Amino acid sequence: MPAVLSCPECGDTGWKPTSRPDGSPAVAVCFCRDAAPAPARLEDIGVPPYFCERARFDYFFKVSPALERARQTVFKWADAYPDVKSGLLLTGPAGVGKTHLAVSLLRHILLERRISVAARFEYVPRLLREVQRVWNDPLLIDERRLAEVTRAEIVVLDQLGADTGWDKRVQERLLYILNRCILGECVLICTTTFPLQAAEQSTLADQITVRGVSLLHEACRAVPMPGEDYRDKVINPGLSV
Ligand SMILES: [Zn+2]
Repeated sequence: MPAVLSCPECGDTGWKPTSRPDGSPAVAVCFCRDAAPAPARLEDIGVPPYFCERARFDYFFKVSPALERARQTVFKWADAYPDVKSGLLLTGPAGVGKTHLAVSLLRHILLERRISVAARFEYVPRLLREVQRVWNDPLLIDERRLAEVTRAEIVVLDQLGADTGWDKRVQERLLYILNRCILGECVLICTTTFPLQAAEQSTLADQITVRGVSLLHEACRAVPMPGEDYRDKVINPGLSV
């Protein structure tokens, strides 16, 4: 780390204070960030190849007004970054496009707005498998792998709570990662198929503990992505009012 600040505008954070038209404080990208090259490929920050080309805001298939609202919320967030107050937690059943929107967000910031920011995409079940492998072999050190996650400024945690039955130590490692991301002031974008509250099915707290959910509430705003109720709409259209 240099002893002398190379950018007095922002103190080498890359974000400088500014204000909105109404006078309220905001942050903006400092010109010194332009000097650093943006990552050329989403693959390089962990995005699965399937989503690298397909996931764009304008390719999002709007099947319902609620999903279109979710698309607009995530787009506005990506368009306002870094002037955002919290991360996002996209919740909804499989197949509604949560990962699609999370990757579209990364694409918009990194490739379309060309903001140079350290970002990371993690498919949580795979990350936890890696963590578990390390726990089983005490000679391996996972700090470098975890630093890839916790040193990023935007971290996408995809499929939080999926693939359960983890060793308690692995669960604790996940809480540690969440905690380090939040303490390190990185912005979290999470997706999960588990509801925050439910009477008859498992909730996210059952999967990642109450403490994990409370950390997420601190760091993220929930964006509901409800699925269509096909039973009502397709089989019994007359019963759905
Ligand atoms: Zn600067």
